[in-house]
Amino acid sequence: MSDRYEEMLSVFDPEFHRAVAALGFDVWIAADCPMCATVTAVPATREQVAAYEAGALVQDAFPHLTADARETIISGLCPTCFDTMTISLN
Ligand SMILES: [Zn+2]
Repeated sequence: MSDRYEEMLSVFDPEFHRAVAALGFDVWIAADCPMCATVTAVPATREQVAAYEAGALVQDAFPHLTADARETIISGLCPTCFDTMTISLN
């Protein structure tokens, strides 16, 4: 993970990081939104990342994530841009 992502994650309260770790998540998947350059990060486990990299479908690999969060993993789109695109396509 680059310094930039670590800097972004450092803005979260340490209490938040502990709560995420307590849920069993041990990695953050971070991505730059291709539309607005916002960095979005979603929590996951190393096992989930390994399953996804081995070819599992995103909804099977990360069942705990919302559609918006899965989109971050697939395309890097942040929830705001994803919502905007969803609206404009309907
Ligand atoms: Zn965006």
